[in-house]
Amino acid sequence: MAPDRRRRHYNTGLVVNTASRGNFDCPKCQKTYKWYRGLHRHLKYECGKAPRFKCPHCMYTGKHRSHVYSHIKSNHSNRPIFALDMQQS
Ligand SMILES: [Zn+2]
Ligand SMILES: [Zn+2]
Repeated sequence: MAPDRRRRHYNTGLVVNTASRGNFDCPKCQKTYKWYRGLHRHLKYECGKAPRFKCPHCMYTGKHRSHVYSHIKSNHSNRPIFALDMQQS
């Protein structure tokens, strides 16, 4: 009696999405990212978080300083370009 040498399959617990999209969806807000890194960054810094940076010239808020900068460039021409950090006391 030879032992059964069938290859074992280990379940890594990793769910691979083989759908044609191959994208990563945020489980909380259904935002879709092409790369895991994008989703990871979103979950860590964006999802469910209040915007941190505020335009000093109006009520606009953004989650990234650069968002406020480009907002000021396109909405407040000739105004100083800086962002108010609302997590700084
Ligand atoms: Zn999300
Ligand atoms: Zn503004």
